[in-house]
Amino acid sequence: MTRCYNFCAGPASLPESVLQIARDDMLDWHGKGLSLMEMSHRSPEVVGVAEHAEQTLRNLLGISDDYAVLFLQGGASTQFSAVPLNLLGDKGRADYVNTGEWSKKAIAEGQRYGEVNVVATAKDTNFTTIPPQQSWQLGADPAYLHYIGNETIGGVEFFWTPQVHVPLVVDMSSTILSRPINVADYGVIYAGAQKNIGPAGLTLVIVRRDLLGRAHPLCPAMLNWKIAADNDSMYNTPPTFALYLAALVFDWLVEQGGLTAMEVVNRRKAQKLYSAINGSGFYSNPVELASRSLMNVPFILANADLDKQFLQESEAAGLLNLKGHRSVGGMRASIYNAVSEAAVDALIAFMQDFEQRNG
Ligand SMILES: *Cc1c(COP(=O)(O)O)cnc(C)c1O
Repeated sequence: MTRCYNFCAGPASLPESVLQIARDDMLDWHGKGLSLMEMSHRSPEVVGVAEHAEQTLRNLLGISDDYAVLFLQGGASTQFSAVPLNLLGDKGRADYVNTGEWSKKAIAEGQRYGEVNVVATAKDTNFTTIPPQQSWQLGADPAYLHYIGNETIGGVEFFWTPQVHVPLVVDMSSTILSRPINVADYGVIYAGAQKNIGPAGLTLVIVRRDLLGRAHPLCPAMLNWKIAADNDSMYNTPPTFALYLAALVFDWLVEQGGLTAMEVVNRRKAQKLYSAINGSGFYSNPVELASRSLMNVPFILANADLDKQFLQESEAAGLLNLKGHRSVGGMRASIYNAVSEAAVDALIAFMQDFEQRNG
């Protein structure tokens, strides 16, 4: 068996040791004579897995009891609706920052339910920058401020926390668990699992408990965070197998030394790749230096006619899924937690060789 290096933006690479445990557990989970997938979500086994997942995640991120941890479905995109439905309340308006493709989707969904004030947009720089907070036009008394912690498509990441006096709501789909964060800075943190947590089908919401109970009367029960919290994320059948895999990923992160250790490795991986790009006259990344994502590294070739050849040859070399998002073109290397430093080294070696032959 040969496992390739996978740079997919999502669903993304998973730690090999996690997949091996899942393989060994597949037919007979812990001697119970059946797969975890085949067990009731009300069984002590599955409830135990869910509790272990939550506790390990709380330890990793330092989540206090002031926050509920919800394991939901529907992806981050469903939270684009759930956020306004749960938080707009009587105010009916909210602030949003526009730093790219995912911001635009969140804004469009927010506009269906209330009044959206876009405090700043990076449109002028084609979404290669993060407008500094001094330039933001904050709204009058918004219910919350929403932003995308890392624009997965554009490769633009916040390395600072907006300072506002309203609940801060952040989509951390592609950056959660890549480095430590201060959960207490936020009202709500949400993330689809398939980038840095586990397989698709699971969505994480971390919400400050005092924000529960404000949902719009027409908010579907399945999108209502309070109902989810009151039912330990088991109001209906949760994605049990995805949750089990996420728990294994959380255990793996603990083994790696937690998020401080992950940050060291992630910074080193990103720094290597960006310096290889910067140091070449052939590859380039358009994002301002201070906002270059540690997780998603888009880059273009000096000659776009070579894109197809680059992708064919990289794939043949066992470096998969380097094609950039269709909206921006070029290439993108997603280097999440489970993408090893060896994978990044192999990518850099390939890029340098390709440049030498074609540059
Ligand atoms: C991938 C992604 C989404 C969409 O996630 P789904 O789980 O597919 O809905 C939303 N926001 C960000 C930042 C993403 O990276």
